[in-house]
Amino acid sequence: MAYEFWFYTPLTCLGCGATIAPEEAELVATGLNPDPHGRWVYPGEVMSITVDDFWSVFYHLRDPAPGEPLRALATWACPLNAEGQLARITFEILPDRAGVRFVEAHSVTEKAEEAAQAHFADADVVRSAKALSKSAERDALLQALAPAVEAAARDALLPAVNGDETGEESEQPETRS
Ligand SMILES: [Zn+2]
Repeated sequence: MAYEFWFYTPLTCLGCGATIAPEEAELVATGLNPDPHGRWVYPGEVMSITVDDFWSVFYHLRDPAPGEPLRALATWACPLNAEGQLARITFEILPDRAGVRFVEAHSVTEKAEEAAQAHFADADVVRSAKALSKSAERDALLQALAPAVEAAARDALLPAVNGDETGEESEQPETRS
């Protein structure tokens, strides 16, 4: 599968505390890159996309206020303890549809407070939240993710058409030397 933006930033595992190199953390948004050849995006780099492009890749939660950075939640897994976790990816929306700048990405706790600050979340974020054992915290998290949870439930009723459930690993591009 292609069309990836791989986000070149180290991530701290909230499980074991290790700092994981970008190549190992593999934080990726598949389908966000209009170019079929996936590539690494470095902090500060501008991608030639608009907010509209996020809608086809992530579930929309809420709109950012004017001038507010765009925050998307995605999942990644620590290679040391195989712990799946959330990352908050922050973007700056450039005026006049001039592009979207990748600002930074960090590991964040899987909590309602975090989800309530996010504008987009990917399907794995919804899956992960639903997989938590039942608790008031889980209820609050699902509430903060409600638009995504509802959209994911609708999607589950549709037949798979794009065949992206093959389990194929995406191939990382070369990093900048
Ligand atoms: Zn870890």
